[in-house]
Amino acid sequence: MQRVHNFSAGPAALPESVLQDAQAELLDYRGCGMSILEMSHRSHAFSEVIQDAENTLRRLVGIPSNYHVLFLQGGATLQFAGVPMNLMRTGRAGYIVSGNFARLAWQEARKYGEAEALSSSEETGFDRIPDLAPAAERAAAGDLDYVYICQNNTIFGTMFSTLPDCGATPLVADVSSCFLSMPLDVERYGLIYAGAQKNAGPAGVTVVIVRDDLLGEGPALACCPSYMSYRTQADKDSMMNTPNTFGIYLCGKVFRWVENEGGLAAMEKRNRQKAKTLYDLLDRSEIFVPTAQPESRSISNVTFRCATPELDEAFISGARERGIEGIKGHRLVGGMRASIYNAVSQASVDALAAYMQEFEESRRSN
Ligand SMILES: *Cc1c(COP(=O)(O)O)cnc(C)c1O
Repeated sequence: MQRVHNFSAGPAALPESVLQDAQAELLDYRGCGMSILEMSHRSHAFSEVIQDAENTLRRLVGIPSNYHVLFLQGGATLQFAGVPMNLMRTGRAGYIVSGNFARLAWQEARKYGEAEALSSSEETGFDRIPDLAPAAERAAAGDLDYVYICQNNTIFGTMFSTLPDCGATPLVADVSSCFLSMPLDVERYGLIYAGAQKNAGPAGVTVVIVRDDLLGEGPALACCPSYMSYRTQADKDSMMNTPNTFGIYLCGKVFRWVENEGGLAAMEKRNRQKAKTLYDLLDRSEIFVPTAQPESRSISNVTFRCATPELDEAFISGARERGIEGIKGHRLVGGMRASIYNAVSQASVDALAAYMQEFEESRRSN
């Protein structure tokens, strides 16, 4: 068996030990005589699985007891609608438009109420995190139901290094591509959500962490589907219908893996080192150009390109020959993107860096 160096943006690399564990338990889950895939979500065994996933996540992130943890379906994209349907109580929210997913969330929210763009970096091709001052100013006025950010911009390779100061206005964050990559101060937020397939597990599970007082009696909008009601899902422990049982099971294993590897502080240290390996090389390079502004650079997704699309193509196909996969940039921006989530090792990053150097030297001597 030959596993590649996997830099996919999502679904993305999972820890090998998690996959092996799941493989070993696949036919007979811990003496149950059936697979976890085959058993009722109401069974004792699965109840333990989902409880353990939640408890491990609570320990790992330090989630206070006044926050609910939900395991939902529909991806991050369904939350673009779920957030305004649940939280737009006075009908107005502010969005920091820092990339494509933030823009999509903002556009979706406009179906349900007044969604203001507080600031945007679209003019510079989303190469940076926009100014945070307008969000702080607007939040201070006290008439927004929430301020929304996409904390790590997966496509453009930027991340918030500080959060907007929203005062008493709840901060809502899509953390899909930075969840578990570094410590998270949950109390700074009213609601956090993450599609699992970037850093926390397989596709099909979305983790929502929401503060009690935001649930109220129910969603802001009466038309909100029952499935999307955070109140209902919290009351039913994420099981108002059949949840993604296998996905939640795998997320639980990833949470335990992160814990055993030293937790979120250890993840941050590793991720910063992996990012530094690539950014240092990019900053010295004469043929690769990093595309995110230095002060906004992500430690999850490193974006760069060559002088021409032809060179990008040559680089990507050469990578494949060396067992380096998933580095083609998103179709919106082209170029390259190396996603260096928790399960991507420093050794894989070193392999990519070595190939980048080799590529640069071969082009220079041409
Ligand atoms: C991948 C991603 C999404 C979209 O996730 P889906 O689960 O495909 O809906 C949204 N936001 C961010 C930040 C992402 O990285």
